[in-house]
Amino acid sequence: MSDVLIIGGGFAGVWTAASAVRTQREAGAADSALRVTLVDAGDDLVIRPRLYEAGPEAMRVALDRVLGPIGVRRVAATVTAIDTDARRVSAIARDGAELHLPYDRLVLAAGSRVLTPPIEGAQHLFDVDTMPAAAALESHLGRLADLPAGAERFTAVVVGGGFTGIELATELPDRLRKAAGGDLQDDVRVVLVERAGSVGPELGPGPRPEILAALEHAGVEVRLNVELRSVDQERAVLSDGTVIPSRTVVWTAGMRASALTRQISGSHDELGRLAVDQHMRVTGVDGVYAAGDTAAAVAEGGHVVMQSCQHAVPQGKLAGTNVAADLLGLPLVPFAPNPYVTCLDLGSYGAVLTLGWDRAVAQTGAAAKQLKQSINTEWIYPPVDDAAAILTLADHRTTWPTDAVASGS
Ligand SMILES: Cc1cc2nc3c(=O)[nH]c(=O)nc-3n(C[C@H](O)[C@H](O)[C@H](O)COP(=O)(O)OP(=O)(O)OC[C@H]3O[C@@H](n4cnc5c(N)ncnc54)[C@H](O)[C@@H]3O)c2cc1C
Repeated sequence: MSDVLIIGGGFAGVWTAASAVRTQREAGAADSALRVTLVDAGDDLVIRPRLYEAGPEAMRVALDRVLGPIGVRRVAATVTAIDTDARRVSAIARDGAELHLPYDRLVLAAGSRVLTPPIEGAQHLFDVDTMPAAAALESHLGRLADLPAGAERFTAVVVGGGFTGIELATELPDRLRKAAGGDLQDDVRVVLVERAGSVGPELGPGPRPEILAALEHAGVEVRLNVELRSVDQERAVLSDGTVIPSRTVVWTAGMRASALTRQISGSHDELGRLAVDQHMRVTGVDGVYAAGDTAAAVAEGGHVVMQSCQHAVPQGKLAGTNVAADLLGLPLVPFAPNPYVTCLDLGSYGAVLTLGWDRAVAQTGAAAKQLKQSINTEWIYPPVDDAAAILTLADHRTTWPTDAVASGS
């Protein structure tokens, strides 16, 4: 029996596990040929792309309902070390026990984290990167009405005008109005702070008019060419000296691959991701694969994948297919994800769908919003309690439903 060990139960890790099982069964190998184990610190697949929404605590799927039916062993533990010479991973279990997990093939799918800045008062920043952080913001918003009145009470500052910052800034006015209740609706203020000279600098000019219209529609004030300098419980201070009274300053800028990537001696890009070959093998490190936000895989046209769910899922499916193929003596499959698309939520204004790496706008308004809702509430969720459905979807050749939109069908 060979051990496939997967670190991380996010989108990449879960689909790695399912695809490894699928490949083994498709090959007609005995169930005992591979032991597939997934180790994650938590018990849930956290639906991170939804953590900017209200009610983040519900954005999860119990890992056991996906892994259990397909016979994947789950270990609830935090990985602390990876020894690629001894082919062994060390982890701390919930009861404090130290675990040593051997592997024949390792898949690192430990995701990414937002990098909070080393500024004065950083401990007062909120973020929507993890379930506990998003839940803390939600609970803070729910308590605002009980705090003393003042300009800071229902004012939120969102720092970072990228993907997450835009989605959160266009969502927050409604969440704050709900928190403010009846007479205090006019006290709600949301400010979006971006250090570049335009909103969504990495999204390019295509969707920008829609983004700006949505921010205006939501009444969000935009401050460009300025950074957050310091923060405390009642104010944010910007690099141009502006003081914004605010009890809610949310940091959204800058993602970094899991620190576990540094325990593997491959080459790392500026986001900390490991270089992988077209089969998701970490370059130069025997027996180790990476997938999702830890891997700098190359997609169509030579573009390096985005740290996105859209790329984490196909990378996971490919890594799972290939670790199993590798151990069973089958040919490996090259990475060929579906064409890149972006669907950005713009709050009550709608959404914007773009196609390709230059992000040509393909859909806006209510139609794009409906698509975003389908993505967020259906497509990114794995099937649960149904081995056949999980293994069918684990096929690395499955397409995203957005492909139908992209091709106009
Ligand atoms: C607010 C927000 C909005 C987003 N919106 C979009 C969007 O619209 N579209 C899109 O495509 N993407 C979006 N993303 C990005 C997307 O969520 C990530 O790219 C995706 O979750 C990456 O999947 P992953 O499996 O690589 O990592 P993750 O989902 O981060 O999962 C990693 C897993 O590894 C586990 N782990 C980490 N370290 C350890 C350890 N030491 N020991 C044990 N377990 C560990 C974690 O607990 C976690 O379960 C968004 C992200 C955020 C935060």
